[in-house]
Amino acid sequence: MGISTNRICLLTTTVANQIAAGEVIERPASVVKELLENALDAGANAISIEIGFGGLNQVKISDNGGGILADDLPLAVAAHATSKITKLTDLYAISSMGFRGEALASIASVSRLSIFSKPVGQAHAMMMQMDGEKMSLTPCARNQGTTIDVRDLFFNAPVRKKFLKTERSEYQAIEVVVKRFALSAPEVAISLKHNDKPMLTLPSALCEQSKLQRIKKILGSEFVDKAIYLDVERAGMRLQGWVSGQEYQRSQNDKQWIYINQRMVKDKLLNHALKQSYEGLLHPGRHPACVLYLTIAPDQVDVNVHPTKHEVRFQQPRLVHDLMTSQILQALAVGEDAREYSSQQMSTHWEIREEHVDATRRGRVFSGKSVPSDDILIRPAVHLLPEGEGSRYSSWLILNTRFAIIDMNNEPWLFDVESAQQQRLAAMLSQQTYPMLSRPLLVPVNVAIDKKHYSQIEQLLPLLIDLGIGCDFASESSLIVRTIPLILPATDIQSFLQGLTSVIPTRDNLLKHLVVCQSFDIRQLNHDEKMELMAHMSPQSGVRMDIATCRGLFDV
Ligand code: ADP
Ligand code: MG
Repeated sequence: MGISTNRICLLTTTVANQIAAGEVIERPASVVKELLENALDAGANAISIEIGFGGLNQVKISDNGGGILADDLPLAVAAHATSKITKLTDLYAISSMGFRGEALASIASVSRLSIFSKPVGQAHAMMMQMDGEKMSLTPCARNQGTTIDVRDLFFNAPVRKKFLKTERSEYQAIEVVVKRFALSAPEVAISLKHNDKPMLTLPSALCEQSKLQRIKKILGSEFVDKAIYLDVERAGMRLQGWVSGQEYQRSQNDKQWIYINQRMVKDKLLNHALKQSYEGLLHPGRHPACVLYLTIAPDQVDVNVHPTKHEVRFQQPRLVHDLMTSQILQALAVGEDAREYSSQQMSTHWEIREEHVDATRRGRVFSGKSVPSDDILIRPAVHLLPEGEGSRYSSWLILNTRFAIIDMNNEPWLFDVESAQQQRLAAMLSQQTYPMLSRPLLVPVNVAIDKKHYSQIEQLLPLLIDLGIGCDFASESSLIVRTIPLILPATDIQSFLQGLTSVIPTRDNLLKHLVVCQSFDIRQLNHDEKMELMAHMSPQSGVRMDIATCRGLFDV
């Protein structure tokens, strides 16, 4: 091939915006984030979100904010057009969510976009429809505020479209964005619909009580009941919010929500500080939960370092890191003291129902002094069900890592909780699309394999990739595992791989094998997880105990 000299030309606006869109607009949830932030910047106190088919067909967000003047509508979708800053130095005191003026331009370049808006003081509303680089403006009817309607996202960006997941997972990502946003702006009433079905309705929360109500609705009442509240001001910063104690541990780090000056962030420095504060406190592989609001002078933080503004740069990172760790550690220490005190005061449900429990048993089970045998662990567990399900009590008497006696409508039932967990996982797996998402291991794991199984296992590797398990042979007798399935963080990858050769290699069989190769310990379940599991326990899968049998069990 001969060498030729290529001419340089300017990209058209559309292509330039499409390239920019790649950075900001990754999936429907990114559209939702940008539009919500715009509505907040417009001063709205009510926002409604309508999603069609996971946002792939439609994202429509309406607000009652300040609106856009008819003359400015074409500018709203132009690149680098914003009403929020006029000069660079404005950035150092930014109080709005947006400032780059690129979100609407990016969205418009990869979708079919319409804007309906009636600003304060304009006689009627206007509608602007975009069709490629053409736009049309017509009068329409609407109350004060703005509706942005985004249809057919990525219809003209097939490569981007290929990376999208199923309707369900795209919707779930949207729901997370909406929930995270909802905790950043408690005063804004929010409603979310998916395919016309109401999914989330949050009234405006103006007092502490109703803010807590909103947090409960989003993160569950167990988190709120068990969380430790903190509110401190130091060195011109304020850190306020809730952190989970030792009792509330999650298998994923999906409930760690941190806000800086109302902006939702996933900042490495802050996440590191959070992780460090819990070091040694949680079981391996378990994560804390938190909702934390950091308020800091705008000139102390640069939000213009990341395309989606998730990461920020602090003027004094050390100071912020120290504030986080010292205050969380202190809150945790105080929280534990308080809990110890309250647990001494607390009586369990099993104790409350005196008529079923004689003195011997109560003494044995709850004094904590005489545990029947080393491998049988009995710990009273008292939990309130989340609100809305009434304030029924549900007690779990944990016998060992696998079995528990559970109070079902005031009767004690013995359940194999691990098998309920396996049923739950099987049900969850049956809804997955393939290839399943994978989670990279921080450090690849080496698994020894019998040499004679080398070729048999080698043929299975593509099937394993489908399940989110990425591995390859280091030698004929050693596999290096790099990823495990995202939704199965407790996978015992060694027993899974070593047991592979006894499985007839179909995807269904491998899934079944994967389900039984999960490490499990009832004691690591939190309340939400127990509640989810109870849906998989039926009279057929348990044994009803009479009180006499129960007593026998404890007399072992
Ligand atoms: P940015 O938010 O960075 O300014 P956007 O592209 O998101 O950029 O929006 C461009 C402009 O359109 C905003 O600066 C604002 O003036 C206007 N705008 C967008 N959405 C709304 C809305 N919901 N209500 C009022 N004005 C809006
Ligand atoms: Mg914006």
